[in-house]
Amino acid sequence: MRLSYSALDSFQNCSLKYKFQNIDKLKEPKSKEAVFGTLVHGTLKFIHTPSLLQPKLEDALDYFSKNWNSDVFEDELEERSAFSMGVSMIQEYYKKNVIADYNIVDLESRFAVEIKNPKDGTSHVISGIIDRIDKTEDGYEIIDYKTTKKMPSQDKVDNDLQLSVYLNAFLARYPKEAERLDKVTVSLYYLKHGVKLSSTRTLQQLNDAKQLFLDVITEIEKGVFVPNVTPLCDWCGFQKICPMWKHKFKEERRIDSEEINAAIGDYINLKSAIASTKVQFAQLQEKINTYMEQEGVERVFSEEGIIAQTLRKTYKYDEKILREILEPLDKWESVLKVDGIALKNIMSVLSPGIRQDVERSRILDKESKSLTIKKK
Ligand code: SF4
Repeated sequence: MRLSYSALDSFQNCSLKYKFQNIDKLKEPKSKEAVFGTLVHGTLKFIHTPSLLQPKLEDALDYFSKNWNSDVFEDELEERSAFSMGVSMIQEYYKKNVIADYNIVDLESRFAVEIKNPKDGTSHVISGIIDRIDKTEDGYEIIDYKTTKKMPSQDKVDNDLQLSVYLNAFLARYPKEAERLDKVTVSLYYLKHGVKLSSTRTLQQLNDAKQLFLDVITEIEKGVFVPNVTPLCDWCGFQKICPMWKHKFKEERRIDSEEINAAIGDYINLKSAIASTKVQFAQLQEKINTYMEQEGVERVFSEEGIIAQTLRKTYKYDEKILREILEPLDKWESVLKVDGIALKNIMSVLSPGIRQDVERSRILDKESKSLTIKKK
């Protein structure tokens, strides 16, 4: 299988989106964020492309505004704010960088690296584009530009899969550099903040990244693609056909809109009524229990009927005694249950490798559907 890093990323975020893009080969309308990101990347390529006269800030801003695409924005306000964000990113970039100082090896460097699955001997290809590769004083630096608003923690950068994949691709081109990995820096450059977060990788991390790639391929080959609603849906061009979103688009409705509006309204009202009934019920229960205690009775009578008090006891087993009984019979292990909450609590203290192993051990147990309400 041939898989690009962005396809892998897409599968991990939402496997249904991966299917739309890579199996059904549906064309995704470009979001304004994607159009904006592509232009900023193009401007940085323009800035660093070797030429006799290094582009100055004005040249870069000129390139940016000449290639600006107004069509993707919903209104003028939105467009103006995006345009000024792009301008300030480029200004900040010139403030923090002396363009002529960099010794650039490659820009928007395409790669396609083969990896073999040792388990079944199949070979696969990882492909992608590295934004920039620099020769540094004593090694190399691999840089990926980001136009997102959110900046990750250093810990996330140290474990970022994209950077590990890029470094693997770099080593396929410069294999000798594997002997001095500490001299090859991998960086994410957050243009909005003007901050570059850098890291290095060990051979073990690079091998883990290859293994993760193979694991994702195994998952894809299972052919199960399910939607995963996350904040990333806001940037997904498939909302109109996605079962989690298509209802939002009127023309996609199959049930009469009047009918569904009434049903939604009734559902929300009923849910609130149930909640307030529960509170009322608990208050009445409390009043009746207090009365029974006060009168020293266990049953009370009215014209509507009789209410009797029953004592419900729940028991738990003494773990030590139970273990002493079951262990000699070889039955102890079979009554132990994995405690999901306790596992979640210890996840943060485990190493990233162990965390990945634990995640890989997850299997689907039960599936049920429920409705949640978000009130306007
Ligand atoms: S809208 Fe969200 S859930 Fe639906 S395909 Fe896109 S990313 Fe997946």
